[in-house]
Amino acid sequence: MLLTITTTHRPATDLGYLLHKNPARSVTFDLPVGRGHVFSPEATPERCTVALLVEADPVVISRGRAGGASGTPLEPYVNDRPYAASSFLSTALREAFGTAMSGRSRERQDLADTALPFTAHLPALPSRGGLDLAGRLFTPLGYRVTARARLLDPQFPEWGESPYLDLTLDAEVRLRDLLAHLYVLIPVLDDGKHYYVDETEIDKLLRYAGGWLDAHPERDLVTRRFLKHRHALRRAAEAHFKGADEDDEDAAPVAPTLNQQRLEAVARELRGSGATSVLDLGCGEGNLLKLLLAERQFETILGMDVSPRVLARARDRLKLDELPEAVRGRLTLVQGSLTYRDARLSGAGAAALVEVIEHLDEDRLWTLERVVFGAARPGTVVVTTPNAEYNATWATLSAGDTRHEDHRFEWTRAQFTEWAARVASTFGYTVTIKPVGDEDERLGPPTQMAVFRREDS
Ligand code: SAH
Repeated sequence: MLLTITTTHRPATDLGYLLHKNPARSVTFDLPVGRGHVFSPEATPERCTVALLVEADPVVISRGRAGGASGTPLEPYVNDRPYAASSFLSTALREAFGTAMSGRSRERQDLADTALPFTAHLPALPSRGGLDLAGRLFTPLGYRVTARARLLDPQFPEWGESPYLDLTLDAEVRLRDLLAHLYVLIPVLDDGKHYYVDETEIDKLLRYAGGWLDAHPERDLVTRRFLKHRHALRRAAEAHFKGADEDDEDAAPVAPTLNQQRLEAVARELRGSGATSVLDLGCGEGNLLKLLLAERQFETILGMDVSPRVLARARDRLKLDELPEAVRGRLTLVQGSLTYRDARLSGAGAAALVEVIEHLDEDRLWTLERVVFGAARPGTVVVTTPNAEYNATWATLSAGDTRHEDHRFEWTRAQFTEWAARVASTFGYTVTIKPVGDEDERLGPPTQMAVFRREDS
């Protein structure tokens, strides 16, 4: 799939500074579904084009994919996904031009803040629900829209038009706005149903559409499709947008996302344990740490993760450098693996493992059990993990799929209960299993939580 962005602003080669890409060089980067390439087919002072080409591997795509409605056996491998612009292209946009999307430019900040003449070209863009939809979506944002319907097969014109457009957009816009419009509206036009949608999609929608979607005549369609028809998410997002309008008395309170519910549930257990020192094991980007820092009860907090990259993100997001010393002094972030015994974990009153165990290979989980329950031995250990049964409520996920590519396993309620009971009896703990999130009558809660207490504590 291909996207080109062209400018005639003089000197046009400034586009390279704005996108943080040298037009003389091509770059290749990895993507969850294959590889992306950025290169410049033309770069003169009068006219410069930057192309983003995504090579998607149908076999990789087929692995992460829901069975869905179409039942033909080869459909997962032979389909339009490698060619048609879709959410994969949006992911690549963020990967390739993330800095430009945030509106920053090291060398040309003034240009990044200025509307410039741009042309974006998408040679194969699905337009599900009518070929005029692209016009309805981009015209209100100030674009001149040239949409040419592609024939199903040029050799057999009588077969008629395909649902794909050759789309050209022209406007004077800020580059960051152009990228945000494409980022949100390409998946909306595609309306594909091939990947897992979680609460972070709302954040992305608010982040990239916050400034323009509220006033857009197709706001509801955009929200509905971007969130892949997940009704609960959509209601939450709509409440956000409505929230901006203070006169709207019907505005529903924003429902807490599953992520928030999970963190609150874990924080509640940690508070209830009475512990004053806590461990957040596999702390990720620090969402739980933020809640813990806000509670005076926790005098020493240790966040550990195996990935230096997410630890750096945590440091950024918690704005550690800006916190008063009295707060900052309570938190330590360390890099380490939970599969190796680590003296820094000893002596804590309580520990949390939030959505971590499923990131280890199931046959290596015993190493973590020994490190946490055998060696560190906190008085309380709170573990959360997805409930695999609940996945069936997500239309986009078929039975047997996991919620994230990175999950090595997801357990049913019975499997988690059995694991928790075995760990408790092996290491001298008692355990209680609790649901987290809105429970389905038949399938249970989206997240399951085990609260372990050391028997001698
Ligand atoms: N607890 C966080 C992050 C969950 S994602 C949250 O709820 O937001 C899982 C995290 O576990 C990732 O950040 C990953 O880097 C980390 N992780 C995976 N294997 C690990 C290991 N062996 N030791 C420590 N952390 C690990």
